[in-house]
Amino acid sequence: MLKINYSKNFDKNKYLKDISNKPFRVYLCKKDKNNKCIKDDNNKTIRNIRTEFKNIDDFKQKKTVTLLEVFNKFKEIKKDNFDIIFKDISFKCLLIGNFKTIQEIKQNIQTDSAIKENKSIKFLFDYTNLRKTYISLFFENNLNISTCYYCNIDYINSYNVEKKKKNKFTLDHYYDKSTYPYLSLSLYNLVPSCYACNSKLKGIVEFTNLSPSFQKFDFKNKVKFKLFLTENCVDLNIKSLKNIDIELKENYSNDYNGEKGYIETFKLNERYKAHKDIVFEMIKKAELYPESRLKELQDLTGIPYQQIKKDIFNLIDDDMDLSQKPFSKLIKDISKELELIK
Ligand SMILES: [Zn+2]
Repeated sequence: MLKINYSKNFDKNKYLKDISNKPFRVYLCKKDKNNKCIKDDNNKTIRNIRTEFKNIDDFKQKKTVTLLEVFNKFKEIKKDNFDIIFKDISFKCLLIGNFKTIQEIKQNIQTDSAIKENKSIKFLFDYTNLRKTYISLFFENNLNISTCYYCNIDYINSYNVEKKKKNKFTLDHYYDKSTYPYLSLSLYNLVPSCYACNSKLKGIVEFTNLSPSFQKFDFKNKVKFKLFLTENCVDLNIKSLKNIDIELKENYSNDYNGEKGYIETFKLNERYKAHKDIVFEMIKKAELYPESRLKELQDLTGIPYQQIKKDIFNLIDDDMDLSQKPFSKLIKDISKELELIK
């Protein structure tokens, strides 16, 4: 729903550097049935070279190797077709290439069951482990996350518990990680979102061009909340929630509509209808405070008329990042519908 506002603080080069340097231990201890390390007669732990690094002589002398070293080495020794799959694709582009680049990579790599099951890709681009240790933290520290970028309904901000930072967001893989495992660490493939949007609604649905991480994502301007009065509402006399309806309408294009479209997938119309009270309250206030009343208040208090209006209706400034508060897109669109703002 809202485009991600990547500020200058969004340090993608740091992300690249840190992920590239993620270490892998070359040797792992041999384990027994209970998952405990086995020791030899001299009480020394028995270590074996990691299965993935067998036959790589260059690694045998080292204790650890970095993720980037492994990527390059797999390409060099043609492991699991790495040389063909990633022929013209650099590690940098994979990790921090923008959304358009991700789409190009996706087109370049023919995704089939062989890719999905490619053990070396799964091993190298293992998201689960890095999410906990690094990726979530990176988003916490580099992006001012407040509400879900898909729905703008739920707060997904960070908070502190005994000096430790926690967060309420999940990171959705716009292109799902089971189908495109090689995109699972790609920065612009990750969308901070609420649990409902990510896990309960989107799943592996695939849209085209509609990622909030895409520069051209323009839901804000192309789709608007519209206010409708129901048939039984006589003489525009709005008495209860039942008299009004709200619906998202797309103007001049058809990018977000449709059966498996963005609006339908995230059940936005249905979910927003459950919050009609916000709109109802705005209508009631508009009735209570017509222009004439606001001007009276200005004369009485000396506070500028525009300021009083803004305070009463919680109007949203034009330059405000709508993702910072829940329902701000709804409030903004309905303010226009009610002609509270131009
Ligand atoms: Zn959401």
